[in-house]
Amino acid sequence: MLTQRQLFLKHVAQTSETPLMLEIVKAEGVTLTDINGKKYIDLIAGISVSNIGHCHPEVVKAVKEQAEKYMHLMVYGEYIQSPQVKLATLLATIVPEHDSCFFVNSGTEAIEGSLKLARRFTGRKKIIAFRNAYHGTTMGALSLMDNEYFTKGYHPLLPGVEFLNFNDFDDLNKIDTSTACVVVEFIRGEVGGEVASFDFAKKLRERCNKTGALLIADEIQTGFGRTGKLFSFMHYSLQPDIIAIAKAMGGGMPIGAFMASKNLMQSFANPALGHLTTFGGHPVSCAASYASLQIILQMDLEREVAMKEKLIRSALVHPLIKSIDGKGLLLAIDFGNENINQMIIQKCLAKGIITDWFLFAPHKMRIAPPLNIKEQELSDACKIIVQCADECNAGMK
Ligand code: PMP
Repeated sequence: MLTQRQLFLKHVAQTSETPLMLEIVKAEGVTLTDINGKKYIDLIAGISVSNIGHCHPEVVKAVKEQAEKYMHLMVYGEYIQSPQVKLATLLATIVPEHDSCFFVNSGTEAIEGSLKLARRFTGRKKIIAFRNAYHGTTMGALSLMDNEYFTKGYHPLLPGVEFLNFNDFDDLNKIDTSTACVVVEFIRGEVGGEVASFDFAKKLRERCNKTGALLIADEIQTGFGRTGKLFSFMHYSLQPDIIAIAKAMGGGMPIGAFMASKNLMQSFANPALGHLTTFGGHPVSCAASYASLQIILQMDLEREVAMKEKLIRSALVHPLIKSIDGKGLLLAIDFGNENINQMIIQKCLAKGIITDWFLFAPHKMRIAPPLNIKEQELSDACKIIVQCADECNAGMK
């Protein structure tokens, strides 16, 4: 008989030759337990998903309660479903300028919907994205990626996409009156924690205002408190036109959304049925999301996330560490070298600490733990990272 490991490799489609293959039987808070009883501290939160830890009791309760009432009823937008209404209403109180929420199932779908909305509303074709950005891998979102490694083999992609350099003021002039939208992550995940300067974000907003291009904020990785504010655009005293969210939104359940003003969103209804989804805004996911958001809103995000960022920055001092990029609890430890980074990541894993690298920055280690990780857990984990860096350093001498 084949083992579960063998069946995994045989029947669950793989996207790399070297999957991590941790066989997890339980996840609670910041701890994952594998089939042999070995415990791991999760310093990446399933890539910025489990912002309030795994299996938060309030989320589990909400899931159970909703599953016992009803699950899927009807394709999106036809029936009044209380979990959707409650969640959309709560989101609208947080971002009142974006009082209309279109629920989907994932981040990439949130981007697809945002792009379609921008094109329909403006009647324009050109889409602008930034170099080395990651916005998902469905065809539209993939078209926002300039990186040939990920896109070759899938052409032709969406025509009419142009790429700008991030934090480059001159490039903003490429946004013109034929531009439907500009998609931006103000604090960029997959490039390894690159932060938009305040002035750049301001000028970007101004240029969009001047040309009538819509500004789409991808808050899929940065949202729900990860950078120390509920959404990363909130660091910049500006409002995007469309906000794309997913990942931590569901407290561990699959859900995404894009939010805009009612006026903007209305263009999907004229002509009718401008965007459709069967499962988007699944009632169980909405119930989980509502419970999770309530918990995040009760946290003193600014204080807590900033304090933990400081803890990491002062604990991770080592000759192999060139810099620590990013903001809040979306941090990128730059080891300046992919092999060294991989070696340290593997050593950490062996010692029960889960970290990761970044798609466009393989030399940087990802630290993005649940936001409610305890200080002691975080400082213990940092000590292990330093110890692994020491071992790696010693091995190189
Ligand atoms: N945008 C950003 C910034 C992301 O980090 C991701 C996922 N890593 C996505 C979009 C796509 O989200 P999903 O995997 O849910 O489709």
